[in-house]
This record gives sequence, C-alpha cells and structure tokens, in this order.
Amino acid sequence: MTEKLYWKDMNLKEFDARVVSVDNNEIILDRTAFYATGGGQPGDTGILKSGNGQYRVVDVRKAGDDVIHTLESAGGLSAGSQVHGVIDWDRRYSHMRYHSAIHVLDGIVTTRHGDQGLLTGGQIYQDRARIDLDMQDFSREAVEKILDECNTFIQEGHRIYQEEVSGQEARKMENLARTLPGKELINSLDKVRLIVIEGLDMHADGGTHVSDTREIGKIVLNRIESKGKRNKRVEFHLE
Ligand SMILES: [Zn+2]
Repeated sequence: MTEKLYWKDMNLKEFDARVVSVDNNEIILDRTAFYATGGGQPGDTGILKSGNGQYRVVDVRKAGDDVIHTLESAGGLSAGSQVHGVIDWDRRYSHMRYHSAIHVLDGIVTTRHGDQGLLTGGQIYQDRARIDLDMQDFSREAVEKILDECNTFIQEGHRIYQEEVSGQEARKMENLARTLPGKELINSLDKVRLIVIEGLDMHADGGTHVSDTREIGKIVLNRIESKGKRNKRVEFHLE
C-alpha cells in the first residue's frame, strides 16, 4: 500500500520515499506526493532522484491501494532504493486550480440551480477544463449567469480544506457523492476524505485543491456544446 502524502498535504512539492518494487519502468514507492490519475484530474509528472541518478516520472496511476509511477527508465533502481521526488509544480498547481473551479461550479449548480440540472462529470487539463451538465435550460446566457455567480463566490475568498471522516459518518451525510460509482465507493470505505469549500459545499474526493478560492482566478467560458437532450458540455479556462 502506498501512503498518499497528497491526501494530507496538498501543497507538498518534494518528499523522500523508499522503492518497494520495480517492474520494467514501473515502480511502487512506500509513500508519494505524486497525484495518481483519477476523478478527472491527470496524474503528476516530475523527477525522482536517487544517488547520482535522475529518473523522469511520466505517468502516475492507481492500482488497488498502490500508486504506480511510470518512469522513462528505471535502470539503476531496485527495491529498497531511497529516492527524493520533485513534482512539476506549475503543472500540478494548474490542475489544483481547475479542480477547485469544478467543485465551485458543482456547488453553485447543486445548491442554487439543482432544480434545473446537475453536474455529471468533468475533465481537467493544464490550460482548460470541461464539465458535463444534465440541464434543461441550456442557453449561453444561462451558463454565463452561473459562471458569474461562481466568479462572485470565488472572489469572496473562501477557505478550501480536506477532512477525514469515518465511513459510518459519511454515510449519514447527504450529497457527498453525486455519481452512482461515487455513492457505491462511500458505502465500501472505512474512512472517507472530504474536500470542504467553506460556505458552499463538501464532496467525497481524492483530488488536490488550492487553499483559498481566490487562487482559482476567474472562470471564462470557451464554448458550450450539446451532447444529447439532457447532456451538455461546457469548456472553460481560468484567468
Ligand atoms: Zn473532485
């Protein structure tokens, strides 16, 4: 099992760890601050240093309780090697801003426009993000109005933080997960990690986020697209 350091400290940029196993160019560490792809957020990239060697991390993903780091080459590393990891921070910080923006959007849609529709998915990139909405009124004006509300909330400066609760407590709380797989996951967990946006919303979430909504910047609409009767896609970037 890999200890996910980014769950407790989302701002950790460097860390020390020990190699647990090496399989070709894929390695497992005992602990990591590299985010593993999931929840619409891409995995981190960066480097691992060991002795005189430097190893480029090109992909990070989950496999059960383990986090697998794919390296350009793992030649020279073996089980027991000590490594020092450094995350490509600009890229990761961008993902954090977009991930938090999606949660603000989800919170505003759910709490203020839940009668019209809900957010059903999202994908984060370094320079943009998209969300999918199950929504009836889907004019450009309606979307712009929601984004304006989000931007007003963002500019007010609300704290964002993580918290851990027992599975039992989580199952008593409403709306922690918005999707069916998310709800099923909560039903199977002993401990649930929550991301709280003060004054708005909380979600069961494994992602990394900024600490204050003002770090998000301003949400600017790129385009909207209809993917079906009640399935609408909104793409935006952050200024
Ligand atoms: Zn999330």
